[in-house]
Amino acid sequence: MIKIYNTLTRKKEIFKPIEKNKVKFYQCGPTVYWTQHIGNMRAMVLADLILRTFKYLNYDVKFVRNYTDVGHLTSDACTGEDKMEKASKSENLSPWQIAEKYIKIFENDVKELNTLEPNIKTKATEHIFYIIEMVQILIDKKFAYQTDLAIYFDVSKAKNYTKLSRQNLEKQKHDVGSSDTSISDPQKKHPADFVLWFFKKGKHKNALQTWESPLGVGFPGWHIECSVMSNKHLGNTLDIHMGGVEHIPIHHTNEIAQSEAANGVKFVNYWIHNEHLLIDNKKMSKSEGTGYSLEEIKSKRFDPLSLRYFFLQAHYRSKQNFTWKAMKAGQNGLKSLQNKIKALGNDYGKVDPIRYNLSNRVNKKYQKKFIEKISDNFNFPQALAVAQELLKSNLPDKDKLATILDFDKVFGLNLDKISKEGKQIKLPEEIQELFEQRNQARLKKDWKQADKIREKILKMRYEVVDKKI
Ligand code: AMP
Ligand code: ZN
Repeated sequence: MIKIYNTLTRKKEIFKPIEKNKVKFYQCGPTVYWTQHIGNMRAMVLADLILRTFKYLNYDVKFVRNYTDVGHLTSDACTGEDKMEKASKSENLSPWQIAEKYIKIFENDVKELNTLEPNIKTKATEHIFYIIEMVQILIDKKFAYQTDLAIYFDVSKAKNYTKLSRQNLEKQKHDVGSSDTSISDPQKKHPADFVLWFFKKGKHKNALQTWESPLGVGFPGWHIECSVMSNKHLGNTLDIHMGGVEHIPIHHTNEIAQSEAANGVKFVNYWIHNEHLLIDNKKMSKSEGTGYSLEEIKSKRFDPLSLRYFFLQAHYRSKQNFTWKAMKAGQNGLKSLQNKIKALGNDYGKVDPIRYNLSNRVNKKYQKKFIEKISDNFNFPQALAVAQELLKSNLPDKDKLATILDFDKVFGLNLDKISKEGKQIKLPEEIQELFEQRNQARLKKDWKQADKIREKILKMRYEVVDKKI
């Protein structure tokens, strides 16, 4: 039983999937116009830990993450310049080249942080047709209206528009009211109305990424992209939608409004919002010059997995403060864990735990505790504490090793790779002798005897892997 804090209800709820044992999971991915900083990486690692938790608990997860490669303006409230275009001008590359460049860096970074590949990675620019289709539906259903500059979603038509943010619309008006869209588009009805489709006009008359369409030449707004991509790959209702807390009042509020208006059903059952990575107690941000990249972390000789370990130490709903000192502590924490694993491996001859199946030695008591923690709104820091407790216990080393490797299916710290670092696998004499006897039997083509010895070895929890000779 998994309990999830649902932003929509502001309560911890028991997770009930739409389809038995299946999870439809969407995460708002990066806008690919720069190198994502480690704050963005925190969001990706947290989603990965949640994904791994579902998998560990035997759910069949379909995980979709998008790339925003058009339409995200420098302000989330549909104002400013398109982020892709801005980068395109400053780097003298086309928006397509910008996207390619930064997707590559992003994919490399998340791989180094040992996150699992999403089942589907989508790009907004590959969904323009479906975006146009959804905008048309919203026009037909009278949820949208057109001005000379854009097509807007009419928030006054949405049922309970601010149900996620719980802000009153007047407050929303205040937030967005002073933005330059309202000033530059006098035909806009309500300051909180947001753009579904920008025309290649006005401020955007020289836009680089535009599409011909029955709506008029233009490009999509950012919010509609996620509504369309999640719908296309996961259907009308998702089990889980995840993103940073900053998305609650605008991006996710708008996604709900347009998806529910277009599809007529509930958009998302469980909203998960991760808190930010801070630096000097302020949100890590590129514009403030505090957006460290993974490359910078590595250049200071930190292993990306120590950053993953660092992220494991804070709850996803808590802010986490980054300092180099904390990073060093993360590195030490990981090293100490690795050393403990090495020591456990040594005790029985540094065998490779993957080849020598240890799964039947997973300690049930500790596993139960671990499951309790990860199922209780994904409490990874406490799950890590269970792992430490396990390592300090007086369980046999093999059991400890088997159990910690089992936990690592969620932690994703590559702990199973550690014993491989040992140069030569040194086997206990007894086993070594049996190997020799078996080899002799094989040479004599006495297969029956060879199999018998193999069985004997297996009973001693070692496995013989024959190579061609
Ligand atoms: P963006 O490219 O700005 O749309 O951000 C991509 C993802 O990173 C979003 O899900 C954001 O919520 C998340 N994000 C951005 N900054 C931070 C931060 N400082 N800490 C954690 N997550 C962040
Ligand atoms: Zn999104």
